[in-house]
Amino acid sequence: MTGSSPVDLKRLAAACAATIAAHADELTALDQAIGDGDHGYNMKRGFEALSADAEALAARPLPDALKAAGTKLVMTVGGASGPLFGTMLMALGKELPADADRAAFAAAFGKAVDAVAARGKSEKGQKTMLDVLYPVRDALAAGRSGTEIAAVADESADATAPLRAIRGRASFLGERSVGHVDPGSRSVALLVRAVAENFGA
Ligand code: ADP
Ligand code: MG
Repeated sequence: MTGSSPVDLKRLAAACAATIAAHADELTALDQAIGDGDHGYNMKRGFEALSADAEALAARPLPDALKAAGTKLVMTVGGASGPLFGTMLMALGKELPADADRAAFAAAFGKAVDAVAARGKSEKGQKTMLDVLYPVRDALAAGRSGTEIAAVADESADATAPLRAIRGRASFLGERSVGHVDPGSRSVALLVRAVAENFGA
């Protein structure tokens, strides 16, 4: 455990950066199918930058560290997804009490997902990262285990394939967006699994 934070942010950031780097080509291919092909590179660049800063971040109280991590992602991921991932972490930092238990974390996570929806002017069912974030919110609130939550995230990302995109660049394709997994949803599933597998001791 590092600094004043109750969770090992350095380990979490490293795990997130590693899974994004390992799947960058897959994320790029998904975004080539229904977007502009930059999602894998955007995410890799952003999470590498976050991981490089993790030691300094981890020395700060968790809410401050999350807000700073969100700002870093906005600056380094770019595209549509950078501000959305950034909003998620900044809102989580804002909502999380310093002594958060699981229920408080689940409540703060729910508010952070709502902040992403407000920032993206989007809602569930539009073939975006929200189609994974909301089921993960519900699984967290229901007290499911990390393994179960990671499985929910994977299934929810896969379940974006038959949807037609209503928001983001993929929406320009209309019906032709059907049949492909949403890249941002896949990224969220990878990150949820990395966090779930590296959260505990
Ligand atoms: P860009 O679309 O600018 O190239 P990225 O390729 O990095 O940005 O990210 C695309 C992902 O961002 C999509 O797969 C989707 O999950 C997410 N996204 C885009 N627009 C929105 C939105 N308005 N609300 C929620 N998520 C969105
Ligand atoms: Mg893109």
